[in-house]
Amino acid sequence: MDLKSLIRDVPNFPKEGILFRDMSPLLQNAEAMDFVSRNLVKDVDLSQIDYFAGIESRGFILAAHMAATHKKGFLPIRKAGKLPPPTLKLSYALEYGSAEIELPLGNSRIMIIDDVLATGGTLQAAIDLSKLAGYDVKAVAVLVNLTFLNKMKFNNKEVHSLVQY
Ligand code: AMP
Repeated sequence: MDLKSLIRDVPNFPKEGILFRDMSPLLQNAEAMDFVSRNLVKDVDLSQIDYFAGIESRGFILAAHMAATHKKGFLPIRKAGKLPPPTLKLSYALEYGSAEIELPLGNSRIMIIDDVLATGGTLQAAIDLSKLAGYDVKAVAVLVNLTFLNKMKFNNKEVHSLVQY
C-alpha cells in the first residue's frame, strides 16, 4: 500500500524550516489504518505484548487502533501533569529547550508506538521512562522515520517503521 500518498507535507509548520509530515489523510482511510495496525507488528510476537503504549498525542491514535485490532490493552505516555498518581516523570532535551513525559507505574509487557521519529529524543525518553516505571519494553515502532535526523536503534536493530524519508 502506498502510505506516502496519504501523508501530507506541510512546509514551515509548526516553525519556519520544519517540513511537517501530516498523517491526517491516513487517519481518514480505514483500509490504510488497518494496514498500518497489522504491519507495525510484523515481526512482533503478540503473545509477548499486554499493552500498546502510545506517545501523546498522535501516538495515542495509532496505539489505540492497534490495541483494538490485536485485542490488547492501551497505555498512555502523556505530557507531564495530565495523569493522576501514581506516575513517574522524565525530562528530556529537545532540539530547543526540554520536555517532560509521564506514565502510570506498572509492570506489564508493552510495545511503544509513535507517529514520527525525528531526532529520537521523544522515543528514547519513552523507552527509558517505561523501563524506570517498571514495564518490560518488548518492541517499538513508528509510522514514519525521518532517517536523516537519527540513527536510533532498539535492541541493536533499526526502529521498525512503514515510511522513511
Ligand atoms: P523527536 O523527539 O525529535 O524524535 O520528535 C518526535 C516527536 O515530534 C514526535 O512525537 C512527532 O509527533 C513530532 N515531530 C517531529 N518532527 C516532525 C515532523 N517533521 N512532522 C511531524 N511530526 C514531527
